[in-house]
Amino acid sequence: MKMKGALMFSDFERAGTVVARDVGEGYRLDDPVVVIDSRKAVDGAVFVALPGERTDGHRFVGEVFANGASWAVVSREWFVEKGAEHQGDDRRFLVADDPVKAFQQLAAAYRERFDIPVIGIGGSNGKTTTKEMLAAVLSTSFNVLVTQGNYNNHLGVPLTLLQMRRDTEVAVIEMGINHPGEMEFLSSLAKPTHGLLTNIGHEHLEFFGSLDGVADAEAALFRYLEAHGGTAFVNLDDHRLAAAGASLSRKTGYGAQPGAGRAWWAEQIGADRVGRVSFTLCSESGVHQPVAMQFVGRHNVINAVAASAVGAHFGLAPAHIAEGLGTLLPAKGWKRMELFEDGGIVVLNDTYNANPDSVRLALDTLAAIECRGRRIAVLGDMLELGDNSAIEHESIGRYIRQLPLDACLTLGDAAQLICEQAGGRCLRHFGTMDELRGFLSEYVQPGDALLFKGSRGMKLELAADDLIKQN
Ligand code: ATP
Ligand code: MG
Repeated sequence: MKMKGALMFSDFERAGTVVARDVGEGYRLDDPVVVIDSRKAVDGAVFVALPGERTDGHRFVGEVFANGASWAVVSREWFVEKGAEHQGDDRRFLVADDPVKAFQQLAAAYRERFDIPVIGIGGSNGKTTTKEMLAAVLSTSFNVLVTQGNYNNHLGVPLTLLQMRRDTEVAVIEMGINHPGEMEFLSSLAKPTHGLLTNIGHEHLEFFGSLDGVADAEAALFRYLEAHGGTAFVNLDDHRLAAAGASLSRKTGYGAQPGAGRAWWAEQIGADRVGRVSFTLCSESGVHQPVAMQFVGRHNVINAVAASAVGAHFGLAPAHIAEGLGTLLPAKGWKRMELFEDGGIVVLNDTYNANPDSVRLALDTLAAIECRGRRIAVLGDMLELGDNSAIEHESIGRYIRQLPLDACLTLGDAAQLICEQAGGRCLRHFGTMDELRGFLSEYVQPGDALLFKGSRGMKLELAADDLIKQN
């Protein structure tokens, strides 16, 4: 398509009121760099002034123009009051009632220029992991644009779309929601041609109401695909997703184990000494491909099978899929079962977040690690459990009793209940991070294996990092 990779005058018009002297019908901005962070407003950039929680982007309009930005997307309110102070021959404004909406409209208009596969990834858990795996798989044959980090919301999705370039062959877009209706909206921006939902789990139940509510909200991705001739990848291990995908006309089923309707599945799931998972990737067409990954934790098998099913759909050979999955390393600071091993100690840093299911999975992995020393679980509070908090923490404590662990250390008010229920396994409870860190510096010995797991707000990575730095 001729205009691929360009923002046109009409796109700016569609997003708001254009204020510029030298801009008209024929205007185009090739390979646009659209930013919401003023520090990233390089020469020629389009800066979108967003109202932030801490600071208002409009405060930086002068600065970004001084640094060479071409455009500022601003609110009408600000423009009426302050716009004149910032006028200049080469300064262009897009004036919008709502700069967030204008930004989203620019991204949507831009995305429409690209006649390429756009793969949307939604679901409750494992979106970022799955999109990294899928990008690694697809990158063995294509030039792939993938969501950076966790930029998956109403700002992250448009930011990602605006990073499409003329040589982009496939886009992998993470789509995160926490309210009903958001998946419809993100789909209307990204216009996915393909999509997968990782699973349906406990996420933002205060807004979704129930797991069925989560499923209905996430399944908007499937509904969008169905309405627009797209293809869905359906995790048949998840009964809510299986139900949501049942009536789709273009779909590929997959699962972590064999079963009806699965085009792709895993067999011979195993793990190495420290928990890095391996499996045999199987298909209804007879594929039997061994895969060994750098990722720790069995939940990554379904993520990898999902990535494989999509990769195969795009024509990749099983050996290439296995290579992509096998060579992918978790990014630095990944914090999702991130493995550190130096022969002396093993540290599993799983401090990205924590809920009852993922804590049990992580404890199982720790219990299966082969080490010379002790298996030690360092657990912090699982936050945002509402009324269920006490029951869930106590239940984790009882779960620990029957695992072959040597010690459990806990941090935080709620996690104290884990300690109380863990019987002899609980070595100590700590009220502060400093006490925990002090204790660990004396307690940990070469040969030990430690799991650090807690909700994001507990910042347990601080304690994990001490051990990593020491060694
Ligand atoms: P977010 O909503 O924060 O964007 P996400 O869906 O992108 O999360 P990841 O960041 O990939 O998910 O993983 C977060 C955590 O979810 C992991 O640390 C792990 O505990 C858990 N997890 C990952 N994959 C799965 C899965 N397939 N099933 C269940 N839990 C999973
Ligand atoms: Mg994510």
